[in-house]
Amino acid sequence: MSHTLPPCPACASVYTYELGALLVCPECAHEWEPAEVTGDDSDVIRDAVGNVLTDGDTVTVIKSLKVKGSPTGIKAGTKVRNIRLVAGVGDHDIDCKVDGIGPMQLKSSVVKKL
Ligand SMILES: [Zn+2]
Repeated sequence: MSHTLPPCPACASVYTYELGALLVCPECAHEWEPAEVTGDDSDVIRDAVGNVLTDGDTVTVIKSLKVKGSPTGIKAGTKVRNIRLVAGVGDHDIDCKVDGIGPMQLKSSVVKKL
């Protein structure tokens, strides 16, 4: 097997199998779209190297970023403490306060968890 199918969400049977785009449980006959199950994972926000981020984490910015109103912007390697995960504008999913710049939103793809 190249991959493991998720267990049945109705009865937790592990004997699920694929039927076209659906997953089917042979024990309770429940049918569902795999996206319903794997969709839970989309709430997880990961940093540039795949670490799962959580509220309160400290991260470093991995590349220099231009910031509107700041002559220096954010330099690569800048440490950002106590991040908060948000559903921000566009890809911005981190709410934080950057030393010397102030509150702002960052993309998880440009930070690395410490
Ligand atoms: Zn089942």
